[in-house]
Amino acid sequence: MGLLKTEAIALKGKDLGEADRLVTFFTRSSGKMRAVANGARRTRSNMSALVQPFTHSSLTIYQGSSLARIRSGEIIQANLALREDLLLMTASSYFAEMVDSLMEEDDPNEAVFGLLINCLTILKERGVEPVLLRSFEIRLMSILGYRPRLENCVHCGQEISTGKGTAFFSVAHGGIKCQGCAEESDREITWGVCQVLGRLLETPWRQIFTLCLDKKMEKDLEKLLGEFIEYRAERKFKTLSFLQTLLEDPS
Ligand SMILES: [Zn+2]
Repeated sequence: MGLLKTEAIALKGKDLGEADRLVTFFTRSSGKMRAVANGARRTRSNMSALVQPFTHSSLTIYQGSSLARIRSGEIIQANLALREDLLLMTASSYFAEMVDSLMEEDDPNEAVFGLLINCLTILKERGVEPVLLRSFEIRLMSILGYRPRLENCVHCGQEISTGKGTAFFSVAHGGIKCQGCAEESDREITWGVCQVLGRLLETPWRQIFTLCLDKKMEKDLEKLLGEFIEYRAERKFKTLSFLQTLLEDPS
């Protein structure tokens, strides 16, 4: 109850009544929350800019007994470019959809907030790069407690020395398995893919684009991480399939 002042990123919104919007934000201090923006659909309203998807703002929100309402706000980054281009908008929507569906309301997470801000900024500067998409995916899963184990077999714990034999990845167990423990449902992966997974997690953001991935590697990572996330999230992401269609056929 009372007034909350926090930084927020708008994830999505829907119309409410005649002129209002009900917006889902990811906020720095309270995590995911929904709030009503009164009059946001009136063109001259100050609210209309604050509730546009991917806008980074500083908001004052009134939390009463019913739905929270935005009192006022200031834009920090409008991120207009992310809404003006179909590919950028789809990639931003994918980031937003993942955060929206994997986070519960009222569960603040500074690391998730930082990751989202960071990735939207890089997206705006560099465009849609597979290495950015995959880094976002694996880092978000790691923050949420699903960091894949890449050094030891997830079943027997034995250290797996890179480069010997074949690597197997268990989507269900969230990491690699030795040859002896691998089951039929596990995916055979190259050591290259295994190493890149580690680098996508560890490489500082400013160096992330020095990771050179060939087309085959990009596809393998996309598939592997896609299955890993789908298993944990127990759902498919609509925006990801649309994004993949756009990337395969940019015309
Ligand atoms: Zn094993």
